[in-house]
Amino acid sequence: MTEAKTGAAGLAATPISTIKGISVRRTAALRKLGIETWYDLITWFPRGYEDWSPVESSSELQDGLEQTFIGAIARKPQSSQRGRLSVQKAVVRVDSSAITAVWFNQPWLIQKLDQGQIYIFHGKIKRDGRYFTVQNPSFDIYDEQLPPAALKPLYPLTEGISQAMLRLWISTVLSSLKDRLPEPLPDWVRRDNHLCAVDYAINKIHQPLSAQEAEMSRYRLAFEELFLIQGGLRILKQQRLLKRISRSVVLDQELSGRISQAINQLPFDLTAAQKRTIKETLSDMQMTRPMNRLVQGDVGSGKTVVAAMAMYACALAGGQAVMMAPTSVLAAQHFSSLTSLLADCDMEIALLTGQTTAAKRREILASVADGSCHLLVGTHALLEDRVVFNDLLLTVTDEQHRFGVRQRSKLAKAEQYVPHNLVMSATPIPRTLGLILYGDLDISVIDELPKGRQPIETYTATSADRKRVYDLMRKMTDEGRQVYVICPMIEEDSENGLASAVGMFNELSQNVFPDIKVGLLHGALKPKIKDEVMQEFYEGHVQILVSTTVVEVGVDQPNAAMMVIENAERFGLAQLHQLRGRIGRGPYRSICVLLSDNKEQLARERLKTLCHSQDGFIIAEKDLELRGPGDFFGTRQHGLPIFKLANLYDDRDIIAAVGRSLDRLFEIDPELEMPQHRIMIEVLHERYGDAFPDLAL
Ligand code: ADP
Ligand code: MG
Repeated sequence: MTEAKTGAAGLAATPISTIKGISVRRTAALRKLGIETWYDLITWFPRGYEDWSPVESSSELQDGLEQTFIGAIARKPQSSQRGRLSVQKAVVRVDSSAITAVWFNQPWLIQKLDQGQIYIFHGKIKRDGRYFTVQNPSFDIYDEQLPPAALKPLYPLTEGISQAMLRLWISTVLSSLKDRLPEPLPDWVRRDNHLCAVDYAINKIHQPLSAQEAEMSRYRLAFEELFLIQGGLRILKQQRLLKRISRSVVLDQELSGRISQAINQLPFDLTAAQKRTIKETLSDMQMTRPMNRLVQGDVGSGKTVVAAMAMYACALAGGQAVMMAPTSVLAAQHFSSLTSLLADCDMEIALLTGQTTAAKRREILASVADGSCHLLVGTHALLEDRVVFNDLLLTVTDEQHRFGVRQRSKLAKAEQYVPHNLVMSATPIPRTLGLILYGDLDISVIDELPKGRQPIETYTATSADRKRVYDLMRKMTDEGRQVYVICPMIEEDSENGLASAVGMFNELSQNVFPDIKVGLLHGALKPKIKDEVMQEFYEGHVQILVSTTVVEVGVDQPNAAMMVIENAERFGLAQLHQLRGRIGRGPYRSICVLLSDNKEQLARERLKTLCHSQDGFIIAEKDLELRGPGDFFGTRQHGLPIFKLANLYDDRDIIAAVGRSLDRLFEIDPELEMPQHRIMIEVLHERYGDAFPDLAL
């Protein structure tokens, strides 16, 4: 075996093929796990441990338990053939008892077991009176000099790779390391947080002598992982604060007065949370330090008016602002909201989407370029690439439930000044997670719904209740209300038996409500058809809208007062909450029915959460708890690296502790000039180069 070069970089540059026993075939199998270098191997962390503390005597061996015992091979082990099956047997003597160890189809084991030699065995015990057997036990030669490792790591595997192989290869690499791993954490961070050294942690997470050693090591390595990733985001933020400049949106008394006037002219009073958020946003934009603010608020909390005031301020200050939405339907809706919210403000507002005609588009682009158009609304795709602004001061991104935060606006990148940035998100993220996902943003939370909103009554139901649900739908439409029916699939698929929008549309329009106008909406329809259906729904002609989750993105019809969600168990809680937010937007009593025949306890408990809570944050927290963060969102989707150890839910304490240490770090060394802090940037490049491509301070 060749020596690896020193340091983590050296380890990362040394391919695993240099390790004895890793053949070409095994190299390929390991590559499937993402293991290509020595470094990958020692950071292939166990998913758990097998307890190998041996019993003191054979009397402790119990039927059905997985146990460990030490014993000598009593007779020469035998292999015999039973049809196509070969059976290997060895008799192991443990004090006064004889235990028969049995394996199947592993004839090579016979050579590994020497008569008279002492081994340590681990496997499931079968006991029948005084007769013991153990099937397919793992074993090692027992060395009295060395205490047997009480805990053996259990690694995630792939075909062709066994626990024994990984244990051997990893221990081979570990024994050649000899304290050579560089310590990425500053000493004071380790001291403050009582963290063990990196060498100790890497060794002990693979070969702990006790559960405490394993846990101490995992804690430290999870801390390191979070420290680096949260730190990387903080560096991005710092970079923006130190290296980028925006133009200040100066509001003198007169202009501030005009904003107050616009607010007074709104048909409603702002909530305290909206006022606070507008204030935070306007005061951010007066700085030359680029604003990067996330406005987080539940569906219907009124984020649009916050964006409208920020955009208006830019126009008053003589510049422009742009708002980007994920779909053209939403862009059109924002355009009409802005137009009505700023009706008396004398603003030139334009909408640019895929449906805009070529002539109109030319006209808009010209007015954006010469500055006569103040506010522009459109889809991301359209606005990011081609539009040239005269004087862009602010970009607003409506992400709805998507997190697109890592995907930075490409607008005005090459220019001397960057525009301020405002992101709106309706995804309630538990605070600790916000710290990570939005580590490079300042956050305003609109934690209050406008007054007079009706809570949405939410019920679970099964197919047995279908008749009653249909009766309720009819009652709603009779009263003039509109109803959504949401299905998880577009088309019928006999395989999964899930409700489909097309199937449900046929059933409802032909059989159940032949006298009622039913509409169909899903993502596979042509944009023109989709727009027509939405238009009919807005105008109230379509009374029942059967749809897939496409409606979850910002559709606003205050007359809709009922939603039926088919196969509700198929959706995430946060998503159901989001969907449900389409109703209860007007003054009417609103009802959401979650249909599900799933009887699993967990599934029912999840749905019940929605019946009991209207608070997106509580729901998100519960979702995270029940499903785990892996399901809650792939961090990958946000452009963040995959966490190898840290669990975003269980490790909330670590996330908070890391946050405190990072606060302190940037306080004492804002540009990371001290060598022990500088290391962090190097390690980030080494480990997470893809996620943080242009990290520098
Ligand atoms: P979201 O945060 O989901 O984007 P919107 O900005 O679309 O919410 O607002 C939802 C609805 O509530 C809109 O019809 C809007 O005009 C209205 N609204 C916003 N703020 C208030 C308020 N303070 N009082 C009453 N209605 C409001
Ligand atoms: Mg919105």
